[in-house]
Amino acid sequence: MNRTREDDKRDDFRIQIIVDSNCNLACEYCVLLYRNEPYKEERAISYQTMDAYIGFFQENYDDILKYYRKIVVTFFGGEPLLAKERMLYMMDKLSVLDSIEFVIHTNGVLINASLIEDMKKYPKEKYSFIISIDGDKDIMMRYRLRTMPVESIKLDDKEAMLKYTLNRERLFYKIILGIKLLHESGITFLFSPSIMKPSSKNLLSDLKYLYELHPHGIIINPVTAIYAKRESESTKEIVKGFKMFFDFLMKEKGLTFDDIILFFGLPRKISKYKDFLKF
Ligand code: SF4
Repeated sequence: MNRTREDDKRDDFRIQIIVDSNCNLACEYCVLLYRNEPYKEERAISYQTMDAYIGFFQENYDDILKYYRKIVVTFFGGEPLLAKERMLYMMDKLSVLDSIEFVIHTNGVLINASLIEDMKKYPKEKYSFIISIDGDKDIMMRYRLRTMPVESIKLDDKEAMLKYTLNRERLFYKIILGIKLLHESGITFLFSPSIMKPSSKNLLSDLKYLYELHPHGIIINPVTAIYAKRESESTKEIVKGFKMFFDFLMKEKGLTFDDIILFFGLPRKISKYKDFLKF
């Protein structure tokens, strides 16, 4: 059957804009070219490119909305909040368009009171955050919260090791504090954890930890899917972890199956997930 214009209008017009290719972390599994390198301004989006995006939406807004329900612009990186002023420049110009929403996909390190203040000028329904947090402090310290090559620290240099560990702990609590600020400010945020082989064993406790931070949803990162195809034993662990988590949500939090599917952001794939989870 051919898709009609009304069918298409159920979809969002989604676009991802790389605001800054620099990053303030150096996660072990990251594929980013410039992770863990000194900041270079030329890796942030240029005003010329931003103006080209803005012009595109201004000129094509009506035509896009003939076919799509709304426009969703995701600000991505690297770490987009390293170029916060540029991201806000785009939001200022584009937020005057009614049917446009923004998603800020961040590692969370730079979510703070000043950012919350900046966001106050936009209606809350116009934007949300996706935070790439994988679980509790242990898993974050192990894979994500790296700010310099571990190889550069001599293992017998206790002072350097301690400083490095404290710095990573500080980063973790900074992220958690930022998340709490979002929650207290009533701002929508979701998590996008990367679940890999070592984290699959503690998946239930990591997911529970994330859930207690009150996200509006958890997005299952493609890394999980890619990994799941490659490693059958880990796939079993991951599926087991999710099943136990779903069980926890239903029995202890009173969520229905449909609530859970919505929480994971995949409402149109209910049948696929029911099969996957053997409900
Ligand atoms: S926060 Fe994201 S972009 Fe930055 S190093 Fe980690 S995975 Fe890469």
